[in-house]
Amino acid sequence: MRNRLLPFLSLPVLMLPAVAMAEVPSVAVDIPPVHSLVSRVMGELGSPDLVIQPGASPHGYSMRPSEARSLADADVMIFVSDELTPWLAKARETLAADADAVELMEVPGTLHLRYREGATFEAHHDEHDDHDSHDDHHEHAHAGMNPHGWLDPMNARLWLAEIAESLAARDPEHAATYRRNAQAGQWELDAMTESLSARLAQVQGTRYIVFHDAYQYFEHRFDAPASGAISLGDASTPSPARVKEIQARVARDNIQCVFREPQYNPALIESVFEGTGVKTSIVFEPLGVGLELGETLYPQLIERLGQGILQCADA
Ligand SMILES: [Zn+2]
Repeated sequence: MRNRLLPFLSLPVLMLPAVAMAEVPSVAVDIPPVHSLVSRVMGELGSPDLVIQPGASPHGYSMRPSEARSLADADVMIFVSDELTPWLAKARETLAADADAVELMEVPGTLHLRYREGATFEAHHDEHDDHDSHDDHHEHAHAGMNPHGWLDPMNARLWLAEIAESLAARDPEHAATYRRNAQAGQWELDAMTESLSARLAQVQGTRYIVFHDAYQYFEHRFDAPASGAISLGDASTPSPARVKEIQARVARDNIQCVFREPQYNPALIESVFEGTGVKTSIVFEPLGVGLELGETLYPQLIERLGQGILQCADA
C-alpha cells in the first residue's frame, strides 16, 4: 500500500495538498445504539451508515439494496456481535471483506453475561463470562453469550475509545478529534450512569417481566433484576409452556409490570395478562425505537429504560 504513494512524491508541489487531504472513512454500523456511539466519536466530521433500519429486529433481517451498498462501500464496519446478527457475518464476508471489522463484544474488557435459562430468573444468578480470556481472539467459545451488551453503559464507555482508535487508524489526521470526542462521550455516560443509579436505588426490588431476554446488562449495571422474560433471547415466539410459567410467576410473586416491546407481538402480552391487574402499557425496548438517530440516541435509550422501571414502581 505505502509503496503506491511514492510516485506522488515526485509530483509538482502544487499537487501535494490534494494528496495530503485526509478523507474521513466511510463507516457502516448495525443498530441505532451503535450508530449513536459512532456519531458521538465522529462529531462534525461525518456520520455512519445504518445497515439495520430503526424499529427492525437485528436477530433476523434482510438488507435493502441501499443498505447492502453501504456495507460494500464501508472502510470500517462497526457492529455488536456475530451472535446478535448471524446473517450479517455472511454479508460482511461477501460485501465488506476489505473493510476493517470492529466487533464490539470482542473489545478487551467488555463485560459478558450468559443468557439465563428458563422463563423465570432466579435472584442473584447472573453469570459473568468476563473472566474468560478475550485477549485471545482465536477463542470464540461464546455458546450462550448474551449479545445485548450495549445496554451496559460501561461497555459503551469502553467501546467509545475503541471506535476512536479504529477511526484514527484509518484517518490519522483526525485522530485527536476522534479521541477528544470519545473522551467527552465517556464523561457524559459516567454522569448519566451515576444519576440513573441514584434514582433507581430508590425503587429497588421493583418486580417486572421483560418481553425478551435482552436487558440483562442493564439490570446488572443498575442492580434492577427482572423476574423473567416472556420470549427467548432471540425474541422468537414463546412456547405455550413458557407462557404458562410466566403467568404463574406473575400471580405468585405479585409482579407489578410486564413490559412490552413495540417490535414484537404486543397482542400476546394483552391476551396473556388481561385482567390480572399487572401493568402492561409500559414500553421497554433495547434499540431506541422512536428516538432521533444521532449521538443523543444512546443516552436517551438508557435513560428511557430507567424511566420504565421508575414508572413501573410508581403504583
Ligand atoms: Zn434482542
